[in-house]
Amino acid sequence: MTRVVAIGETMGLVVNDRPGPLSSSRAHTASFGGAESNVAIALSRLGVSTAWISRLGNDPFGELILRELAAEGVATVTVTDTQRPTGFMHKHRRTTLAATVTFWRAGSAASALSPSDVPDELIVDADLLHLTGILPGLSDTACEAALHAAHVARASGTAISFDINHRSKVWTGRNPRAIYLELIRLADVVFAGEDEAALVVEGSTPAELANALHNLGPNECIIKLGAAGAISRVGSDTLAQPAFPVDAIDTVGAGDAFVAGYLSARLDEASPADRLARGALAGALACLTTGDWEGAPTRAELASLTASEGTCR
Ligand code: ATP
Repeated sequence: MTRVVAIGETMGLVVNDRPGPLSSSRAHTASFGGAESNVAIALSRLGVSTAWISRLGNDPFGELILRELAAEGVATVTVTDTQRPTGFMHKHRRTTLAATVTFWRAGSAASALSPSDVPDELIVDADLLHLTGILPGLSDTACEAALHAAHVARASGTAISFDINHRSKVWTGRNPRAIYLELIRLADVVFAGEDEAALVVEGSTPAELANALHNLGPNECIIKLGAAGAISRVGSDTLAQPAFPVDAIDTVGAGDAFVAGYLSARLDEASPADRLARGALAGALACLTTGDWEGAPTRAELASLTASEGTCR
């Protein structure tokens, strides 16, 4: 049985293999990325049966995404859109520390997602639905799809996790606050960075922001703090988790690996502290590999690193 269902856009990606000016970047790698499918892959690696719902273009990147997700053990429930392309992003690594990402996602296949693309029974039968704030920003119909999925989950007792994952470019000219608030109020678990939480609630510290999110209804509110770790408010408890020390080479995707680690521990009914710790360990390990999802750890890797005192140096 599928335990987790994620819905969202995944885009094709081309990135230069060696950092430098684009004019001298001869070799590039074709890959893909999307917050929700990154979480789905990371959950699958942690042994959680996961399905991903989306629309893809009838093009090579659509095929690549389907093949790679299948290889990662993620069930794909997708519509092939013959009228629209798979979204695309180009990542230019100018130095080992600096990259510019350019998106071509307006009019993409996934931006045409609508409630009719959501198989309600998959959500009804799952333990958890995972959404981000990106999907509702893609279009009016994508926003309806996100809300529809959340209401189906709510009505059937399927837990909802919502990662604000604010992307200002998909919201240009529109204010996401009302829709973020609506999804937060429907959710059981909310993830946010400090800046993202501050879009919807007030607070001058991470703990205050987590408390303010908690006051909106979700029982588990987690603030991701990058190299400073994370804090959570669960029930009446506030917990802090330092980051695991690593020599990070690429922090992109750490947030998605963190979410997967946290949610897998939650599905294991681990304690709130252990959920936070597994999230932080998965996030730290993701920083050791270049790529949006490639560094997400398997369950065996998590166990071996925990056994070696949890440090990754
Ligand atoms: P992104 O959107 O880039 O994937 P995010 O902003 O959602 O990331 P972060 O706060 O950057 O999420 O990272 C998530 C978690 O991963 C952190 O809470 C922390 O536990 C871990 N992490 C991130 N960066 C580092 C780092 N440099 N060293 C160790 N752990 C890290």
